[in-house]
Amino acid sequence: VTDWQGKNVTVAGLGVSGIPAARVLHGLGAKVTVVNDGDDERARTQAAELESLGVTVRLGDGDTLPEGTELIVTAPGWKPDKPLFLAAGRAGVPVWGDVELAWRLRGHGGRKAAPWLAVTGTNGKTTTVQMLASILEAAGLRTAAVGNIGVSLLDAVLGEEEYDVLAVELSSYQLHWAPSLRAHSAAVLNLAPDHLDWHGSMEAYAADKGRVYEGNRVACVYNTADKATEDLVREADVEEGCRAIGFTLGAPGPSQLGVVDGILVDRAFVEDRYRNAQELAEVSDVRPPAPHNIANALAAAALARAYGVPAKAVRDGLRSFTPDAHRIAHVADVDGVAYVDDSKATNTHAAQASLAAYESIVWIAGGLAKGATFGELVAESAKRLRGVVLIGADRALIREALARHAPEVPVVDLDRTDTGAMLQAVQEARRLARPGDTVLLAPACASMDMFANYNKRGDAFARAVRELGA
Ligand code: ADP
Repeated sequence: VTDWQGKNVTVAGLGVSGIPAARVLHGLGAKVTVVNDGDDERARTQAAELESLGVTVRLGDGDTLPEGTELIVTAPGWKPDKPLFLAAGRAGVPVWGDVELAWRLRGHGGRKAAPWLAVTGTNGKTTTVQMLASILEAAGLRTAAVGNIGVSLLDAVLGEEEYDVLAVELSSYQLHWAPSLRAHSAAVLNLAPDHLDWHGSMEAYAADKGRVYEGNRVACVYNTADKATEDLVREADVEEGCRAIGFTLGAPGPSQLGVVDGILVDRAFVEDRYRNAQELAEVSDVRPPAPHNIANALAAAALARAYGVPAKAVRDGLRSFTPDAHRIAHVADVDGVAYVDDSKATNTHAAQASLAAYESIVWIAGGLAKGATFGELVAESAKRLRGVVLIGADRALIREALARHAPEVPVVDLDRTDTGAMLQAVQEARRLARPGDTVLLAPACASMDMFANYNKRGDAFARAVRELGA
């Protein structure tokens, strides 16, 4: 336990993690200085609030290490090669992320230190963590889905509410900055190139994701269809007795969960010693029943079972789970064409999962590519594409991939990045679609070139679809 009284802590970045971190550290008695790159209107308002508490804030100066700093607590998105961190490295100052801070503050003030069931991966984290929380609740446990959604980690650790166990979503950034985190059990759902501009390379990205397994006590859950996740388990340094547990969409081997005749089956944590498998739930209990989502349900079930949750709670928890908006959400049928919003498909791997779920698709794609390439995605999906409508800043990258790998598919390239482009995109998609088709918004790109976030992008799509129907 750290003695915080009078400790010189620098918080890097105002924002969703920085402001609560600064408040908490100040509350613990630390001497807090916040450094921030930006110096705009919003930053000034936020700074004024913190200053009124007695926190020092330096705006427009995110790279100078304040004199006397003993610890940096950083926003997860700050890049490791930032001059501030290089200076910290030279001065021997440790850098923690918000997750590390929350981890270290577990049990503070005599609270119960709930174990963490952690989930990471390129796609499916939020869904899996929510399914997991739903299952744990069905087992009568006090729990919350924490991370990018719902309760923040610091609130979960320091708030009024006591938890038995937490379902924690962790990004690769957060894991990078969480060196001492030790989960009860953890799952890496899948690994595809994403955020490579931040991590520097696929190896560095994988290594950060793999941190989630370090020190696990009970189970490291991996995806049998994604060898990279299994490799990470093999490389991890875990507690004695910790097991590697696989999940598969096929029949499970020993120490695996999988699917047999439409039933989710557990061969890893079998309660009855005269049997070698235990039925958990039906595939139809999982919503939406797309293959990638059944994989998410299996991963959630594996973590819950590692924690000792009975089979019945897995089924009840999956049945009572409702997916979040903008994740393969059916918006409406218009003239026999289904309109589906998967705005949350912000990278090629996610878009590939949703494109695989439909037979004949008019695909609306484009946005910020974040360094991704589209050849593989287009080649794998080409035969299911009725047509494509492109929007957003990096649409040329997708257009070129289509020209190379799907030259027959008609493409409408909307040369615009204003918010109103979505309505036109939906109108163009309607023209391309035939009855029985699905118009699918699965951009394979981030939304920030046109929208504040993927929610707004999905909302714009849904509005445009409703206008068609009206
Ligand atoms: P995350 O929190 O990792 O971003 P979400 O659960 O919010 O994950 O889903 C993000 C996107 O990825 C959605 O578009 C969804 O359709 C897709 N997706 C969800 N689970 C998977 C998976 N296991 N594999 C591939 N894509 C997935």
